Amino acid sequence: MKITAISIFPEYFTPLDLSLIGKAREQGLIDFKAINLRDFTYDNHHTVDDTPYGGGAGMVMKPEPWGEAIDSALAETDAPVDLIVLTPAGSKFNQRKAETLASAKHIIFACGRYEGIDARVADFYRTQNQVRVHEISIGDYVLNGGEVAALVIIEAVTRLLPGVIGNPDSLAEESHNELGELEYPSYTKPANWRGLEVPEILLSGNHGAIAKWRREQALSRSQQNSSIEPQD
Ligand code: SAM
Repeated sequence: MKITAISIFPEYFTPLDLSLIGKAREQGLIDFKAINLRDFTYDNHHTVDDTPYGGGAGMVMKPEPWGEAIDSALAETDAPVDLIVLTPAGSKFNQRKAETLASAKHIIFACGRYEGIDARVADFYRTQNQVRVHEISIGDYVLNGGEVAALVIIEAVTRLLPGVIGNPDSLAEESHNELGELEYPSYTKPANWRGLEVPEILLSGNHGAIAKWRREQALSRSQQNSSIEPQD
């Protein structure tokens, strides 16, 4: 999978050198590139923002550098591209969206700053055949920029790619499955830690009873905490 992140802070993406994603990049499973939006400006100050039409506080990111930066990323591939414009006003990211994006060939992330990106950028690329535009929020709160949101999505999507997680069975029984269920609580050794015992049933060796207990725990947690809608 090819991934391009466009940002005024490309250094934000150095964590992608680490851990499973770092290894997957070394193995060629993920081809990641960060592009500096300021490389597509032509004034001495490398300006990427301007005052909002209609007035109001803050600055808005100008469409011209965004257009050039996205075009440069699109020029690198013939495949259909998923362009993710990060915005707190977008549709909410979840495990279903991660699964859908895991079959993408090339994802481009547009990481906004200031008051966000001129709305015509998303509108323009919606008219382009090669591009599917997704305006995505990672939750109901406001960050300073889209870089952290892009990192969240990159991690959730790329761990689903074959070969990225060492043991693919770990993906089989995870939280937020297609029924919107959460996983049961997990324990390891020692059996007593600071006076807290591991639930006795897990030490019983009775696999049927353990499976039943885990199922009950998963259902009770799901009723309390899950917000994801079950699929039909
Ligand atoms: N003025 C915008 C609003 O109220 O909707 C907020 C802009 S925010 C300060 C700057 C940038 O951070 C956004 O353009 C977006 O890229 C990113 N961002 C902030 N919160 C986000 C969220 N919850 N999900 C995804 N991106 C977010």
